[in-house]
Amino acid sequence: MSSNVEAVFSIEPSQHPVAAAERARLLENPAFGRVFSDHMATIRYTEGKGWHDARIAARGPFECDPAMQVFHYAQEIFEGMKAYRLPDGGGALFRPDANARRFRNSARRLAMPELPEALFLESVRELVRLDREWIPTVQGGSLYLRPFMMATEVALGVKPAAEYLYCVTACPVGAYFKGSNPAVTIWVSDNYTRAAPGGTGEAKCGGNYAASLLAQAEASREGCDQVVFLDAVERRWVEELGGMNVFFVFDDGSLQTPPLTGTILPGITRESLIVLARDMGLTVREEPYSIDQWQADARSGRLREAFACGTAAVVTPIGTVKGHKHNFTIGDGGAGNLTMRLKNALVDLQQGRAADPHGWMDRLF
Ligand SMILES: *Cc1c(COP(=O)(O)O)cnc(C)c1O
Repeated sequence: MSSNVEAVFSIEPSQHPVAAAERARLLENPAFGRVFSDHMATIRYTEGKGWHDARIAARGPFECDPAMQVFHYAQEIFEGMKAYRLPDGGGALFRPDANARRFRNSARRLAMPELPEALFLESVRELVRLDREWIPTVQGGSLYLRPFMMATEVALGVKPAAEYLYCVTACPVGAYFKGSNPAVTIWVSDNYTRAAPGGTGEAKCGGNYAASLLAQAEASREGCDQVVFLDAVERRWVEELGGMNVFFVFDDGSLQTPPLTGTILPGITRESLIVLARDMGLTVREEPYSIDQWQADARSGRLREAFACGTAAVVTPIGTVKGHKHNFTIGDGGAGNLTMRLKNALVDLQQGRAADPHGWMDRLF
């Protein structure tokens, strides 16, 4: 492939962008995933022909046939990443190369063609450059990018499709959890599991989320914000939340997070926090932790803090854990000190207020 990947994209600016005053109003306090920017990126794939028709154009609906494979067999993957406004007015992405790599891994697991990383990167970079006015300037705001790919072949036979559509849409976002309590309450799912060995747990695919919705609904019914899943084999080891990884903080100042053994989504926030914590001189273990141990340690005080992390919600303290067989509060039920130190270290780096010793920031303008 040509090294000059930008040349592949045709860029057709929208003839009807949202007016500046209306955009300013929309950017004031956007609900997550409800407000969208003016443009989208798309690339088509056809077996035998490869990737083609890369364009960035006005955002709008797709034309879809009722027999398109994705509607029936859920051959779909996605990514989630953010563009940040920098103090000098510039804009940057955080570790987009890691998203590009994970998107390829997800594609492989779902028997889809792997989008070359250069094309993935160019699609998000060019979209953000064109829609730069949509990056909120408010504290904690960012432009959330949603790259995804789906099987578009019109056929009901069960097999990997021969045609795909890759797309990136963008939405300005503020804080993910909007309550006044900074800590969330989570529900231990003992009726449902998220991922089994050999399944799709480490791929970022829509099907994993579809399978988690009933457990999430149960959590809401029980008055909880989120659900935490246990492993599917022993129903004992804490894996992760529906869309966030989890960390535990102990009284000796060490951290622990479940290891990536195939059923947990390898979060980029998770990996970044492990690096930042070690930079601070903290000990981080990637080891299994059981739900019963979590309860015992929270009650004895050996466990001081716990938090969930992911691109959308960044770092979110876990205050209380409930379930049919569990009920405990962590620390005083609020945000822990080390949790907030790690969150601030990450957010300061992403928003360009701190040094970037690992070269994670990808400056776009
Ligand atoms: C996306 C996702 C995460 C978080 O990954 P990040 O790269 O940190 O955003 C965690 N768990 C699941 C199930 C996910 O889909």
